[in-house]
Formats: sequence, structure tokens, C-alpha cells
Amino acid sequence: MWELVHSDSPRISNAKGSVNSAKSHSFFISWMFEAMNYIVPYCSVSSTRHQLFEAYYRRFGSDFHASALELLRARQQLAKQLGFRCWADYELRPLSEVAQDSHAASKLFEDCWRHLEPAVASAVQKMKGKAGVLQQPDEAYYWTLHGRAVEALKLAEYLPAEQALERLVDVLGRACNITFRALPARSWWQTGWHSGVRCFEVLDGPPLGIAAGGGRCLGYVYVELYGTWRGTRPLAPGALLLAPGHVYLGLHLQAPSMGMTKLLTPEDATMMAHELGHAVHMLCFSGSAQEFQDLPLDLLELPSTFAEVLATKPEVVGEYARHHQSGDGPPNSLLQVAQANPNFFAQKLQSWNVSLGLHSDFDAFAATPSELQDRAVSLWQRYSKVAASGSFSPLGEDAGGCLALGANQVAYLLCYLRTATLLRGKSAQGKSALKRWLSPDAAGKLRAQLLDQRFNSERLATLLPTLQEEGMSQLPHPLPPLPSESKPGLFQNLR
Ligand SMILES: [Zn+2]
Repeated sequence: MWELVHSDSPRISNAKGSVNSAKSHSFFISWMFEAMNYIVPYCSVSSTRHQLFEAYYRRFGSDFHASALELLRARQQLAKQLGFRCWADYELRPLSEVAQDSHAASKLFEDCWRHLEPAVASAVQKMKGKAGVLQQPDEAYYWTLHGRAVEALKLAEYLPAEQALERLVDVLGRACNITFRALPARSWWQTGWHSGVRCFEVLDGPPLGIAAGGGRCLGYVYVELYGTWRGTRPLAPGALLLAPGHVYLGLHLQAPSMGMTKLLTPEDATMMAHELGHAVHMLCFSGSAQEFQDLPLDLLELPSTFAEVLATKPEVVGEYARHHQSGDGPPNSLLQVAQANPNFFAQKLQSWNVSLGLHSDFDAFAATPSELQDRAVSLWQRYSKVAASGSFSPLGEDAGGCLALGANQVAYLLCYLRTATLLRGKSAQGKSALKRWLSPDAAGKLRAQLLDQRFNSERLATLLPTLQEEGMSQLPHPLPPLPSESKPGLFQNLR
């Protein structure tokens, strides 16, 4: 049990005894994002949760919101000069019709919330039964209890990083008819990569059967598992097309201590799958690098979202999870824990709605920093069943990152919706879901219809209405319309 001890610097100590007598048990923590993400959800002492929460959000004051206002003002002005009503309309223009401007995107959030809200409300009701009044600083902890997050830590025992990576690329290879062949570790002198980078050759053709690994070389993937901490924050994971046929994946996981085995959380494993999905798309895509960059975001993120969601399916977890010591597969009770719970999507809607709302119906030129904070809170509150605390600013959490990146995160929602449809399908001749998802037939369709497709994309004409006036026509979105059943489908099987 921990309690917060105030001294010159904030610190947490073992709850037994005072600061002095417990000095050997005390350690410093900084009020960073990590404290909110890794301590508050597991901290059983309510007063500590509240103190951490207050200390963290106190850092996001007027100066912070004034900087956000400057960013919003610059974008607002630029959007007007480009002929758009607001920045969100400019960024959403290339997306599928159902989210092609800020009003359509807002409506899509509302539609999805209608399907998601009952599950969130029922979970929050149960938490209130345990907590009495459920306050915002306590919410993460009660979701941990409700979602059995401790089981996610048990599943980590079955996800040693190096082996999980090799098994994940095998699963993804079967889903996309490609073979990842691990290349022997070479020295920096031979490859230019340091020894911590795992190199794979990617071949056309499935990893199993007669044609195993026999196809042409599609390229190479260089996976850097561990990040070095630069400054105070780790870098976000990402995929980078270095040159045609060469993809770098920086996963930036925290390296294990000397002699220890790195175990992945289910979130780490699905993040890994997401970035590998980008790599596969970059290598299969038949157009130029510029054509790839010009694809709309809801298409660019679809293969990676597909890989991410596939890696959360219990049947698929059973394929790549093996105990780090015994090599045994996980018990059935742990197979579901990688699947998203209702709070996963509620938190996304909260953050995405903040960045969308602040980039559309909010006049940054007329607003003060505190009005910006109030507006952000009300946009966040739209999709939260728990009232925001007085000191809270959504820009201090994920919504701040979303705001910095832009206003088009609805593209990810479109990808989750399309993936739900892709993975649901009809079970052909009683095939199990796993066999269907990883069959050469399904993989062939995925390749032909999505991964190998060049697609027509002319982003310039989409984004500059003046060019359209001069006769450059806007091409229709390359993907088919979103099926209406995708919305209930996405929120049906949440953990
Ligand atoms: Zn992505």
C-alpha cells in the first residue's frame, strides 16, 4: 500500500511509518503522464489517487492553454485562406463521405455513442455500487477493477517480447499471404543498424504450405523494440518508409533491466501488431511513395487497425502467446483480456471530440485560455458518464496529443468500424473464425482489395477548392461506403 508524502519534492513512500522511518522504502516520482497512466489505475488508496490527480492537472494552467490557443488561431486562419469554414473541415475533406466535414464527423461520434453508451453506463453503475459517489480521480482505478486489468498483467507472462514478435509476424503473414523471414543478427558494420534492431526479409506468399516463403522479395522491415529516453518522454511508436522496400518500425518500448526478459502487456502487443500492419501495407502497396502518402488517413490506417484488432481476438492471442518459461499457451480465461473494453472507445470519443470541437465550432481568436479549457471540458464531458473534476483539463491527457496532431482522428473510428465488418463476415462452411481470418483465400482478398491496391488519390485537388474550380476534379473516396451494420457490430463484443 502506498501513500503520498509531501516534502520539498513530491514523493511516494511505503505507507508504514513516517517519511523518516520509511526513508529506505520511499522513492521519488515525477508528476508526468506515466504517473497518471501507470500508478493511478492501480493505486488502492483513494486519497493518494486524488492527490496525484490534483498535482498532475495543476501543471496545465493558463500558459499551457494560451499555447494551445495560438495553435488553434494559426490553423483557423490558414483554413480560411484555403477556402474552408474551419480547420476540421479542411482536414476531414479527404475522408469517407460519412465523416467528410466537422458536422458529419460529430454525427458519427453521436451515432457510435448511442451504441456504446449502454455498456459504459452499466459498468459505471456497478462502480458506483462499490465506490458510492464515483469521482473522476477514482474512475481509472474502478475501470481497472471492473475490466480485470490484473489479468492483463498475467497475460504478459505469455508475451516475451522477442518471441511474441516472431509469432506475431507469422500470424500477420498468414492473414496477408506474406512470409517474414528473420535475418541473422549482423553487426553495425554490415548493416548500419545497431544490434538491438531485428531485421526481417518479407517475401510474397504465405508462411505455410507448399508455397511457403517461395515468393519474390517485397522488401525489408527493421524493428527497433526499445527506445532510448530522450529528454523526459519516450517517443511515440511509428512506422517509416525509408525508401521503396525498406520500412523502419520504432516501437520505443522500455528496455528490460540487464539479464531480465522483456514481457509485453497486451497493449504493447497490439501496438506492435498495428505498426507491423503499416509495414506490410508499405511493402505491398504498388504505387509510389508519394502516392502512398497521398492516401486518405482512413485508408492509410486501415491495414494497421486491422492487424491491431486481429491481435486482440482471443483465437489469435492463442496463436502468438506462449509462456516465457514453460512455453505453454495461456489458459482460456486469459485469452479475452486483450480485447477492448467499453472504456477504450469512450476515452477515444472523449479525446477525439475535444480536438474536433476545438477545430470547428470554437472561435480561438475571441476566446481566453480559461474559456478554451471550459470548452474542452464540455466537449470531453459529452462522452463521459463521470463528472469532470474542477482542476481537470482534457488537454493534459490524450486530447492534448490529438489536438496537437489535428482534427481528423475520426479516421481511426472509421477504421475500427470497417475492421469490425471485415472480421465479422459470414462463417463459410462452418469454418472457425481463426481459420477464416488466416486462410489463404481471405488473405488473398485482403491483398487484392486493400494492401496491393494502388488507388486513385489526388489529395491536392481534394484540399484546394481553387484547383477544382480550374477543372481539376475531386476523385471519389477509394473505399466503398461504410456498411450501416458496422456501428452496432463494433460495440457488440466488448470485454
Ligand atoms: Zn497507425
